[in-house]
Amino acid sequence: MHTEAAVTREKVVQRDREDPLAALREHFDLPPDLRYFDGNSLGPLQPASRERVHDTVARQWGQDLIQSWNQHAWIDLPRKVGGKIARLIGAEPSEVVVADSTSVNLFKLLAAALALNPGRTVILSEASQFPTDLYMAQGLATMAAAKPSLRLVERRELLSAIDRDVAVLSLSHVDFKTGELADLSAITAAAHERGALVLWDLSHSAGAMEIELDGAGVDLAVGCTYKFLNGGPGAPAYVYVARRHHEQARSPLWGWFGHRTPFAFDTDYQPAAGIDRFQCGTPPVLSLAALDSALDVFEGMDLGALRLKSTALGDLFLELVEQRCQDQGLEIACPTDSRRRGSQVALRHPAGYPIMQALIERRVVGDFRTPDILRFGLCPLYQRYLDVWDAVETLRQILAERSWDKERFHHRSAVT
Ligand SMILES: *Cc1c(COP(=O)(O)O)cnc(C)c1O
Repeated sequence: MHTEAAVTREKVVQRDREDPLAALREHFDLPPDLRYFDGNSLGPLQPASRERVHDTVARQWGQDLIQSWNQHAWIDLPRKVGGKIARLIGAEPSEVVVADSTSVNLFKLLAAALALNPGRTVILSEASQFPTDLYMAQGLATMAAAKPSLRLVERRELLSAIDRDVAVLSLSHVDFKTGELADLSAITAAAHERGALVLWDLSHSAGAMEIELDGAGVDLAVGCTYKFLNGGPGAPAYVYVARRHHEQARSPLWGWFGHRTPFAFDTDYQPAAGIDRFQCGTPPVLSLAALDSALDVFEGMDLGALRLKSTALGDLFLELVEQRCQDQGLEIACPTDSRRRGSQVALRHPAGYPIMQALIERRVVGDFRTPDILRFGLCPLYQRYLDVWDAVETLRQILAERSWDKERFHHRSAVT
């Protein structure tokens, strides 16, 4: 990357002054001295969510108890919150429901996809895919009667690997390590031409860019809500099933919340109409309350403007790394072309782990992905251009002083 003139701190501060999204930061409760680059792993708390959870616990649970399912419409939360997410992913509210975890939803939708495409038994995916997406497919392959199998290829071989055996492609919209953004509509169209369905995992894209699932003719999708959607630790995930599949698609997990009439307590399972059949058991009300409130920050928001700031933050990050961290053994691991990059920057360094720990000690929080990736999530809702400046400046100092090479930075925690 060649830059005409060096970026200065003053210019960066100026960009924050001119940022039309700057005021959104006030919705979040971030420690003032923290430079937070891990919103793609755990989005920060909004005071509104804290109050909502407090009210749900103290008043609804505490005082109104069981009546709250009706009185405070707890029972409607999976669809209500699904409806809010629908707008962010280009779907109809009736196509999205919140339930279970992303892992469990992958299982449900992969099983549904195999049944929707009879005669084909292969789940096609990429070796670089997030592990749980692969594990759920591997587990399914051991148990389903149709004896499905998982085939893994590299991205460049993906389209040529879609033969007559492939029932479904299971892919991430954004690669969790490199941040590479897949061409969702082109891949979906190519899969359909070859008779395969497509299941997209939107965990690393929804809430950071425009997504048009209906527009692209996507069949199935899942995604996390505790990353860019800021739902809180362990918040439940969502399921998208295109309306044209609603009649046929079946969840393999026949829980009573996916029953046509849960409170009839019938002996036999009958799937609910539409997307509701992809619910399973009792929804996690406290987490749903936090998520419901967290999503309000997106109301009426122009997702194009979010994407614009996200790519600008990423471009600035990479430009500063090029300018200020030369000859330090850093490599850029994400696409430099912002059109092919999700909402994160990924750098490679053989000492990636201790470098990230040294950054964290200096209050610049990103994360590390094995074997050598330093990952910096970019969240246009609350990040400032100055945060990017500070992060790269701290990184520059740590590398120049080799201050990462200390005993305490080499100790690996359970969560990296
Ligand atoms: C974060 C993430 C998950 C997480 O799944 P959980 O069931 O919530 O633990 C799954 N897939 C992808 C692609 C992710 O980025």
